Amino acid sequence: MSLENKVAIITGASRGIGFAVAKRFVMDGAKVVLADVDDEAGQAAADDLKSLGDIMYIHCNVAERLDVRNMVAETLNAYGDIDILVNNAGIVVGADFLELEEDDFDRVLSINLKGAFLCSQAVARHMVEKVEGGGEPGTIINMSSVNSVIAIPNQIPYCVSKGGMSQLTKTTALALAKYGIRVNAIGPGSIMTEMLASVNSDPAARNRILSRTPMLRIGEPSEIAGVAAFLASSDASYVTGQTIMADGGRMPLNYTVEVPADQ
Ligand code: NAP
Repeated sequence: MSLENKVAIITGASRGIGFAVAKRFVMDGAKVVLADVDDEAGQAAADDLKSLGDIMYIHCNVAERLDVRNMVAETLNAYGDIDILVNNAGIVVGADFLELEEDDFDRVLSINLKGAFLCSQAVARHMVEKVEGGGEPGTIINMSSVNSVIAIPNQIPYCVSKGGMSQLTKTTALALAKYGIRVNAIGPGSIMTEMLASVNSDPAARNRILSRTPMLRIGEPSEIAGVAAFLASSDASYVTGQTIMADGGRMPLNYTVEVPADQ
């Protein structure tokens, strides 16, 4: 198993992509900390995966420095180490540019971008200390988006946060490269989670997404978990500072593709 004896923290892991990554990592042999703000869902998610391996839930609002510090301390207390951090927690607030509230802009940026910085810094301090003590370097994976490059006009703070995630990935990768600590990101396209729930009941929205997806289907959370498992493993030992797009072909596409009536 490629992650045997590794300890991984995954934020925003009660459901969706984070949950799929937690499941994949625990199946690959890692000890997993599932962190989230929804304690009931988080505990239920950890209970759900308990039969597969070692997993625990810790409350952490990634935008709160003290929560992050506590998450790192509790993980070290329980498992004695942290090898992998997945900065997955993220929210979307939709609003037209002229109507967008300052508070909503701040809230999205503080969770999606500052949260990833706070978690990365706290975990990297442990990882660097370990390397300096002769231990193995760890790795950090940021959940970015195709919206780090392309954009949606009524999702301003979200797109700005994901654009920032690209630069956070590069700067952190460069800062930590000399320790052998790798930092990469995944850029999912449209993945079937609650973030995309409205699409299920809105054929026009689904059609719009498929017309921008050459593979003509919405992705599954497990398909993002597979990329995370690769980046976390030693198979990616010379990969750092990259964002791997997992988007069914959206990024190379100019214009749209025709969506067959039966899709
Ligand atoms: P999701 O189903 O909405 O799950 C996000 C999880 O993060 C929820 O459990 C949520 O808890 C938690 N969370 C929210 N705020 C938090 C905070 N401050 N601290 C810790 N956890 C927090 O979303 P998803 O679709 O799985 O997306 C996961 C990541 O992938 C996000 O970064 C997203 O931007 C990215 N992504 C998703 C897609 C897609 O199509 N789904 C595409 C590109 C990128 P609550 O339920 O309590 O809010």
